[in-house]
Amino acid sequence: MIPIEEALTIINAHEPPLVTEHLSLSKALDRVITEDIVAPEPLPRFTNSAMDGFAVRWSDVEAINGDASPALTVAGESRAGAPYHDPVHPGEAVRISTGAMLPDGADTVVPLEDVEDTGDQINIRSVTKKHRHVRFEGEEIVGGDTVLESGTRLTPASLGLLASLGVERVMVSTPPAVGIVVTGHELAEPGSEIHSWQIRDSNALMLGAAVEKAGGMVTGVKRCGDLLEETEAAITEAADSSQIVLVSGGVSVGPHDLVKQAAGMAGFEQVFWRVSQKPGKPMFFAHRDDQLLFGLPGNPVAVLNCFAYYIHPLLQRMQGRSFSWETIPGTIDSPYENREDRSFFLRVTVSGGSPEANRVSPLKNQGSHMLSSMTDADGFLLIEPGHALDAGDAVIVYLYPWRA
Ligand code: AMP
Ligand code: MG
Repeated sequence: MIPIEEALTIINAHEPPLVTEHLSLSKALDRVITEDIVAPEPLPRFTNSAMDGFAVRWSDVEAINGDASPALTVAGESRAGAPYHDPVHPGEAVRISTGAMLPDGADTVVPLEDVEDTGDQINIRSVTKKHRHVRFEGEEIVGGDTVLESGTRLTPASLGLLASLGVERVMVSTPPAVGIVVTGHELAEPGSEIHSWQIRDSNALMLGAAVEKAGGMVTGVKRCGDLLEETEAAITEAADSSQIVLVSGGVSVGPHDLVKQAAGMAGFEQVFWRVSQKPGKPMFFAHRDDQLLFGLPGNPVAVLNCFAYYIHPLLQRMQGRSFSWETIPGTIDSPYENREDRSFFLRVTVSGGSPEANRVSPLKNQGSHMLSSMTDADGFLLIEPGHALDAGDAVIVYLYPWRA
């Protein structure tokens, strides 16, 4: 049995190599870029107007106060997509729309609201300062600037920014391919008839969802009974198309816990078995060259907590993301003592207590078969063996990555 830190270190040391691909922006939502992206063009691309109004020369209008407005001749129009090509001469104004190119000679835009418009001429009621309502070329982004750093996940906003800069394709990581195998004679498939001695399978769906939340791609889900050949065949098939195989159940010490043996028959070599933790003590980790296999103890809480602690961070890194836990400080509102000789993941809720510290409340149902302790939890406290907490003690909550 190894401590949780050692399990993490070993898993990190087996991180499979990054796989990348070159994608068009339209296919790249939620992908992680694996290169810094440098702006090929400035933004704005050209100096333009921020308002509907008139482009003028500041030297013509700076003296205006109240009704002392000189009339300016309207020399033409600059529209979005149809610029005015001549320079604006002294005494002239050019009608301009939001986003339209500012003509040469003009340096300031007077909004329509501040203008009396007679058609051929305008009188300006008031002006504020030079360059008002002008968006200058490159004022947001200069060509050559790094706009997104490697490791960034692409959002609708970042895709829009890249499109406006003329970027068409990006180098991104390929989602880690994850195959799921769920073992257990007792399991009934969703939607099938269920016998009195069966339970419903929660882990297949839950693991698939957790993989997708982490940015991975589920290659397939196989269910098998607690039989050696069946389990080996399911692992082999999952491994055919996956970098990572997640197996639920069958890694404990019972006579029908056959996953370790089946994994060995499928060519996986054990790296460790059993971690000093609760839930999830019989967790199993093996590899076949760059492929990894996790045997997760079948209790649903163990499955999901092991996923959160070991596999979610790994899947993030396999996409070129750095991972660190989101934590928040708080004060625990009731005592808790870990009398076990293993690290305990105490599932808790967090609510706004005092202004200084969040109120952290352990959930009642801490059994590793009680999934409601996960649906209700915001995060967990990691409590070392023998450690006791009193009500009012300061604690650090690790927030689950998928909480709403
Ligand atoms: P095992 O790790 O196979 O010994 O399973 C431990 C406990 O988790 C047993 O009570 C199983 O019935 C339960 N269990 C195993 N697999 C699943 C599953 N896919 N869905 C729900 N419960 C499961
Ligand atoms: Mg089982």
